[in-house]
Amino acid sequence: MDYQQILNTIASELHSKSYTGKVASYIPELEKIDPKKFGMHLYCINSGHYSFGNNEERFSIQSISKVFALTRAMALLGDDLFIRVDVEPSGDPFNSLVQLEYEQGIPRNPFINAGALVISDILISQLDHPKKDFLDFIHKITGNDSININTEVYISEKKHSYRNAALLNLMKSFANIENDIETVLDFYVYQCAIEMSCKELCTAFMMYANGGKRISDDYQILSPEKVKRINAIMQTCGFYDEAGEFSFRVGLPGKSGVGGGIAAVHPGQYAVTVWSPPLNPKGNSELGMYALEQLTTLTGLSIF
Ligand code: GLN
Repeated sequence: MDYQQILNTIASELHSKSYTGKVASYIPELEKIDPKKFGMHLYCINSGHYSFGNNEERFSIQSISKVFALTRAMALLGDDLFIRVDVEPSGDPFNSLVQLEYEQGIPRNPFINAGALVISDILISQLDHPKKDFLDFIHKITGNDSININTEVYISEKKHSYRNAALLNLMKSFANIENDIETVLDFYVYQCAIEMSCKELCTAFMMYANGGKRISDDYQILSPEKVKRINAIMQTCGFYDEAGEFSFRVGLPGKSGVGGGIAAVHPGQYAVTVWSPPLNPKGNSELGMYALEQLTTLTGLSIF
């Protein structure tokens, strides 16, 4: 498979493609990003790296961090985790409060904000230094110790966390949050503020394509059974109320973030990441989804 030629075709198509999406503005610092940025990176298990555009420029990974948080929590707690958070698609926006009220404070899945906040609460209860542990984990899976948070984005989101604070308060009223609201919110916003490039994110996601093994040395980071589950949750819940549409158009497990990034995997084959800041009305990168749809169309391969 000539992945570079396929990526070049996608790059030239994107050049003339118009879009209607808007860069996220509810976190003011994110709105400063140039909407024209576009990067794509594919890391194939057998044949290495392919890329184009701004694939080495770091951006705010935002909700893509929820996959790493779930990975840490599953390693620490195993299936006990799923007493406090379910694994069903929500069909609702990422920051919705409505389902939580009639489902007694148990979030639909770990990839909507409510679910990720429960995972943050679990990590805080389990770990002495959750922030350090989280960054150390990212360094371990990428082999890159220079990855860090963007402090401006962290501060900016903290000042505008009304909805996430509301979600936490509601869940605490149902006794599904153990720690205090401020502590959980702080850790959650911290993990979302991590910056990585498409290339770095692709390297990190290789473990989900590679049966839980780090690609550089085959070190087993997570068991294949747990990786299977994480990929299943990415497939069914990785794109909020657009998970069905992403499955339909792209056909790979993946996760998006409001920074405009999407990371996806073809288990046994490759990890792929895209970054394009303008978001569609569901909060997913408009051109990023298009690029991934073209990838699985032009290769003729998806998990289906
Ligand atoms: N930090 C963001 C928030 O909680 C993450 C949302 C996202 O990327 N979808 O609103």
